[in-house]
Amino acid sequence: MTLPIKIFPDQVLRRPTEPVNFPLTKDMLKLTQDMMDTVRKADGIGLAAPQVGRSVKLVVINLEKSGVPLFALYNPRIVAKSLKKVNIEEGCLSIPHVFGLVKRPKKVTVVAQNMKGEEIKFTDDGWVSRVVQHEIDHINGKLIIDYIKNYSQGQEIVDGWKKDKLIG
Ligand SMILES: [Zn+2]
Repeated sequence: MTLPIKIFPDQVLRRPTEPVNFPLTKDMLKLTQDMMDTVRKADGIGLAAPQVGRSVKLVVINLEKSGVPLFALYNPRIVAKSLKKVNIEEGCLSIPHVFGLVKRPKKVTVVAQNMKGEEIKFTDDGWVSRVVQHEIDHINGKLIIDYIKNYSQGQEIVDGWKKDKLIG
């Protein structure tokens, strides 16, 4: 089932989020599935729970077009990041038609839990890194408009994945 996406300046986008407890409740399992349906339907590359009005630490990453299966992360946090930063144009499903360059660390190490509650840890310096940083910002109440200095039109990305826009 798809869920309506909360649009800025909805205050839920700025609200603190609660950790997810394990084992997952039926409600959390349904929320996870609904967020996966919603991000696919919206053609986004990621979605965080506050974007569907839920103040919990849950994000889904949708890089299926780049060959990465759709996955969920519970209680994700960044535990290490590279000094090297890169400027990449981003958009946000909660802030329609707004795009701009966002400077973020190129490489991050993320610790999170999977659906079983097992701790997972991974390091990435590609699209997963970029999308995870955008979504973890969401569960911390942070938005791309907090970074963007110059707004742009939304260029299609062709480098390294199929033509798409980076909207999460
Ligand atoms: Zn977003």
